[in-house]
Amino acid sequence: MNKNEILRKIPRVDHLLSLKETEKLCSEYGRERVTEIIRKELEDFRDKVLMAKEETVQWETSAITSYVTDCIKKRVQETSEPSFQRVFNATGILLHTNLGRAPLGKKQMLAVMESMTSYSNLEYDLSKGKRGKRQAHYAEVICQVTGAEAAVAVNNNASAVALILAAMAEKKEVIVSRGELIEIGGHFRIPEVMEQSGAVLRETGCTNRTRISDYEQAVNEETAAFLKVHTSNYRIVGFTEDVSIKELADLGEKKRLPVIVDLGSGVLVDLEKYGLAHEPTVQEVLNQGADVVCFSGDKLLGGPQAGIIAGKKKYIQAMENHPLMRALRLDKFTTAALEATFREYLNEEACWENIPVLRMIARTEEELLTQAEEIAWELDSCGYAGEITVEKSLSAVGGGSLPGEVMPDYAVGIFPKKETAQELAVRLRKLPIPVIAHISNDKVMLEMRTISSEEKQEFAGELREAL
Ligand SMILES: *Cc1c(COP(=O)(O)O)cnc(C)c1O
Repeated sequence: MNKNEILRKIPRVDHLLSLKETEKLCSEYGRERVTEIIRKELEDFRDKVLMAKEETVQWETSAITSYVTDCIKKRVQETSEPSFQRVFNATGILLHTNLGRAPLGKKQMLAVMESMTSYSNLEYDLSKGKRGKRQAHYAEVICQVTGAEAAVAVNNNASAVALILAAMAEKKEVIVSRGELIEIGGHFRIPEVMEQSGAVLRETGCTNRTRISDYEQAVNEETAAFLKVHTSNYRIVGFTEDVSIKELADLGEKKRLPVIVDLGSGVLVDLEKYGLAHEPTVQEVLNQGADVVCFSGDKLLGGPQAGIIAGKKKYIQAMENHPLMRALRLDKFTTAALEATFREYLNEEACWENIPVLRMIARTEEELLTQAEEIAWELDSCGYAGEITVEKSLSAVGGGSLPGEVMPDYAVGIFPKKETAQELAVRLRKLPIPVIAHISNDKVMLEMRTISSEEKQEFAGELREAL
């Protein structure tokens, strides 16, 4: 068939718009949008014909119409799907930055929901009947839980570091060990953040060894503070030496200089209880004499994305009054979630149950094995051409926390016979609730620690469909 002949047979936009099927789409999704998509699909069809080999093209008007209408329907539906959606995290990495880090628990969620759909006392003092401070909602409970004098929170920990330096050390020197000039990823590098916030980096010591005398010798009349950065995403091992916060705080007192600690992940509880390495807690760091400490809201704290700054009142006040504060402040949803998160920590036992990240850490091997067996059993009976196994495996905290630390886990392994593991993994990512798995030895591995017991039924049901 001649190409020009086919091009002449392509239906007109008006004709397609008058079809019953398209009319339905118009009433659901809007006429203008559907018309635009029709134009786009007709153009694509024209290109398709022009690109095809002469002898292979064979199209009648009716076939073109039905082909194009199908494409239109698909395209309209695709562009109507929200892009942002829930997924199942079967990677075994608890704080997966690409998967949104910490999920929130029920009380945290309810607090956010209420702040969303109603007016609130966000910046209103109910007892005085006039303007209040948005920090008021969470500052007190943070102080109660951490023992700090004062607290404030901003958009994330990266902005917390920037605000601290801008408020405490603008145009002045800040002394940092060469072993702590870290990059967190996503362009967060201590030397660069420092430059941006107007502080001058004064390096001291060596990559593997820094002594208190190094800090002392680096002090001069331009010095504004000491900064310690918790090396949260790597470890220096071997011939090493490091200065404790206590030692640095003593030096700070002698020299009348504040000690700032970027703690990275804000742990408030003892993780050793569950077999993980000791991670310094916010309370410990403050007890050892740090003047200001900052940490993330959505790492091990298990709350919303935020940067929490806790410490001496005079420094926190300087930050609250800094012009950057207005640019970095929390919105009302996060304010609500943050307060709810810290309130969970008022009850030391309940937080292990109510904060999902802590709950995941606390899950026992038996619990994980039972869940893996249950899911494997469900998948076994669905007639998939492949082998379903239960395997001992490992999961990690992730999110740049506790490098090298792993927790025992169990995984459901799927070894496909009629497709590759890669192909199966792609299919799982296309499910209504996409499943993010990992591949090991040609098997798709579904780690159990990050699939909660509330989710497991839905998770197994969806996988059965897919297999
Ligand atoms: C994760 C981390 C940050 C950045 O925190 P965000 O909340 O992701 O902005 C900064 N410093 C350290 C040491 C960290 O581990």
